[in-house]
Amino acid sequence: MRLCVIGDPVGHSLSPRIHRRFMERCGTAGSYEAVTVTAETLEDFVVQGCRGAWDGCNVTMPLKERILPLLDAVEPWTASCGAVNTVCFRNGRAVGYNTDGPGVVESLRLRGFAPAGQAALVMGAGGAAKAAALALAQAGCRVTVCARTPEKAAALAARCGGVTVSWEDLPRAAAEHGLLLNATPLGMEGSPEFESLDFVQALPAKAVVYDLVYHPTDTALMRAAEHRGLTAVGGLALLVQQAALSFAHFTGIVPDAALCRDILQELEAAQ
Ligand code: NAP
Repeated sequence: MRLCVIGDPVGHSLSPRIHRRFMERCGTAGSYEAVTVTAETLEDFVVQGCRGAWDGCNVTMPLKERILPLLDAVEPWTASCGAVNTVCFRNGRAVGYNTDGPGVVESLRLRGFAPAGQAALVMGAGGAAKAAALALAQAGCRVTVCARTPEKAAALAARCGGVTVSWEDLPRAAAEHGLLLNATPLGMEGSPEFESLDFVQALPAKAVVYDLVYHPTDTALMRAAEHRGLTAVGGLALLVQQAALSFAHFTGIVPDAALCRDILQELEAAQ
C-alpha cells in the first residue's frame, strides 16, 4: 500500500505516525508519507493517484473542500458534509470519504456515550463543527449550535434539524445537554482562551465534554470538566478514531478498540 496525507502545511501532521502504527500492528506492508500539495497542485496529485502513484490519501487543510469536485465519487454522507478527509484510488477512480464525523461518534461510543436520544451542544460552525453536528444528528442526537457568527450557527442548525443558542445563553442552555463539544480553536495553543468557563458548572452531572482541540492535550475546558467530575475527551481521540476509519477504507482492516487505545496513549505520552 502506498498511502500519504496531503495538505499545506503538512509537516506537523500526526497522521503518518498513527497510520504507520496501524500498518505495523495490522501487518499491512507499505508506506505512509506526508506530501505537501497546494490548491494549485491538487488536480495533478489526483490524476497521479488515479494513474496508480498512490493507493489512498488523507486530506487536510486547506484541501478538504477543494478536492470534492476533482473526485469520481463520494459517499452520500460525505457529499452532504461537503468535505473529504480520505480518498481511495481504485481501478483508476478516486473515491472520497469523510471520517471526521463518524470518528466523533465512534470515539464517544468508546467512552461509553450512546448518542441516540441525547442532546448535544456543538460550539462552532466551521468544518469540524459541521462534520460533528451532522454525524451526531444522524446518530440520533438533538443538536444545538452555538457559534459567534449567528448566520453560520443558524445554517448549521437547520441542516441538523437543530436549534441555536447565543454565547450569552450558554450557561442556561448547558444544563439541558448531555454532551458539549468544542469545535472552535478556543483553548488551542496560539489561540485565545474561553473568556469564561462558567457554562461547565451548569452541565448535568453525567455530561461528557469533548474538546476537539488536541494541542495542548489537556485544555482549560477539559480541566474544568474533570474538576467537576465530568467525562472529558480530548481531540487526540478524534485524531486516532478518524484515522482508524480511514485505514479501514484504505485496507479493509478495521483497527480494533484496543489498538486505537494503545496509539492514543502513545500520542498522549509523547505530547
Ligand atoms: P474552522 O473551519 O476555521 O472553524 C472554526 C470555528 O470556530 C468557526 O465557527 C469560527 O467562527 C469559530 N471561531 C474561531 N475563532 C473563534 C473565537 N475566538 N471565538 C469563538 N469562535 C471562534 O476550523 P475547524 O477546521 O472547524 O477546526 C476547529 C477546531 O477543531 C480547531 O481547534 C481544530 O484544531 C480542531 N479540530 C480537531 C480535529 C481532531 O482530529 N481532533 C479535527 C478537525 C479540527 P467564524 O466562522 O465566525 O470565524
